[in-house]
Amino acid sequence: MNYKIAVLPGDGIGPEVVNQGVKVLKSIEKLCGYKFELEFALVGGIAIDEKGTPLPNETLNLCKESDAILLGAVGGPKWDNLPSHLRPEQALLGLRGGLGFYANIRPIKSYKSLIFSSPLKTDIVKDVDFIIVRELTGGLYFGKPKERIKKNGKYIALDTMVYSEEEIERIARVAFSLAQKRRKKVTSVDKANILETSRLWREVVEKVSLDYSNVTLEHMYIDNCAMQIIRNPRQFDIILTENTFGDILSDESAVITGSIGMLPSASLGNNSKGLYEPIHGSAPDIAGKNLANPLGTILSCAFLLRYSLNLEREANLIEKAVEKVLDLGYVTQDLYKDNPNAKKLVSTEEMGDLIVEIIERGEIDE
Ligand code: NAD
Repeated sequence: MNYKIAVLPGDGIGPEVVNQGVKVLKSIEKLCGYKFELEFALVGGIAIDEKGTPLPNETLNLCKESDAILLGAVGGPKWDNLPSHLRPEQALLGLRGGLGFYANIRPIKSYKSLIFSSPLKTDIVKDVDFIIVRELTGGLYFGKPKERIKKNGKYIALDTMVYSEEEIERIARVAFSLAQKRRKKVTSVDKANILETSRLWREVVEKVSLDYSNVTLEHMYIDNCAMQIIRNPRQFDIILTENTFGDILSDESAVITGSIGMLPSASLGNNSKGLYEPIHGSAPDIAGKNLANPLGTILSCAFLLRYSLNLEREANLIEKAVEKVLDLGYVTQDLYKDNPNAKKLVSTEEMGDLIVEIIERGEIDE
């Protein structure tokens, strides 16, 4: 069986972390007997430099033809002053919108060996395990009008928050289905005391919940949720929320895991094709220094195997290899400081090599 995987390294630390993901996919390929055709393409700032647009047609076409897409990160100061339709981040919106990836899955899990890497107290972060289900193709990021107009010589800028019943229903179904396989609780996060979109969101989520009678539904305002994630994150199983709120809550939640470099994500639509990327950005401050944590990208590869290629055993192998490498005390610089469990500081490359070694030595209990 052959699978085609589009690989879009992007900018900043994107290529450094994606290289480690590619190494890991190649090691899995040797073990599983499937053939992974990895095809590289330009995205983001580097695509602007070389092709004049953040999402060239050949990149979008490659993604359309592929079974799955692995992406690093896009953006950086070099492209910050371009007009908004030409910024690197437009590529992400183009891929998500163009390929219909409306469901973004972001797991937040605390690893035992990283418990001291979080600035939060250990009794708050230990045993945290929840998933943020973020709506990805609606809300403020896509709503029209989105513009800047001049009135009486002064600018007014406008973004539009818009959601249809259909958009809310399909993402709610993703959240409830995931909850059924876990601890059976959905916390739907909105701002229904202020926003009309949130009032519709609540009504639709209530309606969908009737089809999942074994799942408990609670509603929480976004401002309270931002506090609860830091105060008592163990209360959450699935957080279901709209695009902007989900973006912000997932960066906040990264603090629980010790580093934003640890968090993977999957963006899914109506079929098995998916876009897999770490949640972090291009980190220009550490780019090119072989310092970045590649584990969020490597864990995104596990998601790619699970959700797009249906290779559950191989996905588990990667996840267990990550757990093992951390238990052995190997960490990148983001997880080193004030971490008594950190025994050896390693580079981005070395971390990728360690994961490959663990997978290839076959030392993982399955
Ligand atoms: P960022 O996530 O790039 O960096 C925030 C902080 O986290 C920095 O201190 C960085 O060094 C650190 N960090 C991030 N990833 C890390 C990793 N893997 N290992 C160790 N440390 C890591 O966010 P930012 O600084 O707000 O944005 C930088 C650029 O990235 C901007 O141009 C932004 O638009 C873009 N961005 C892209 C994406 C994406 O491609 N999906 C997401 C967010 C931001």
